[in-house]
Amino acid sequence: MRTTWLGEGLSGLIDLLLPLRCAGCDAAGTAWCRGCSRELGGLRYVERPLLDPGLPVYALGRYRGAARRAVLAYKESGRRYLAGPLARHLAVGLRAISAEHRLDHAWWLVPAPSRAIASRRRGGAHMTRIAHRTAAELAASGCPAAVADCLVTARGAADSTGLDAAERVRNLSGRVLVRTGRLPPPGAQVALIDDVITTAATVASAVRVLAAAGVGVAAVLSLTATAG
Ligand SMILES: [Zn+2]
Repeated sequence: MRTTWLGEGLSGLIDLLLPLRCAGCDAAGTAWCRGCSRELGGLRYVERPLLDPGLPVYALGRYRGAARRAVLAYKESGRRYLAGPLARHLAVGLRAISAEHRLDHAWWLVPAPSRAIASRRRGGAHMTRIAHRTAAELAASGCPAAVADCLVTARGAADSTGLDAAERVRNLSGRVLVRTGRLPPPGAQVALIDDVITTAATVASAVRVLAAAGVGVAAVLSLTATAG
């Protein structure tokens, strides 16, 4: 615990000491510039063989260029202050999904699960932090929102980098687990949020285990998605 606290403190201090530069294009004086914001300003429908075509699954941008650099800077390089700008994009996307699909504007956000070991290395579950910021953004714009941090990836799930779709499903099958004490309340309108959709194996497993626990997912929104 002490190491985590120290890590959090050091990372916060380093954030303060480094001159601010855009995570997408390195422009000075901003964490995420207006030009790069456009890379996460869309709402693209994501189709994957593993996904139920009836489920609205969207990404705000392609996993390339500035958007990819921002996701990696947040997730892997400890630039936690990017949680705010990235959450604002997700909040805009969720409001657009509500309008597009005539859904309620109140959301329960379920962050995609991280592997425990990766969370420890990163000083906390990175999507959980973004989910809380997104809920705050939504609430500030008059859309009630809450977070149900109810998914974990069990020990045994290997890093999925470099695996193909079938291998990812095998890797994750049975390893995305529900923490039943943290489920959203019955009847809640649930959005699963993620940072990057590649094969969608994580999303598909998460939707399946939530359904088994009696929780339907109304929409999935990812910051980015790969080309296919
Ligand atoms: Zn930029």
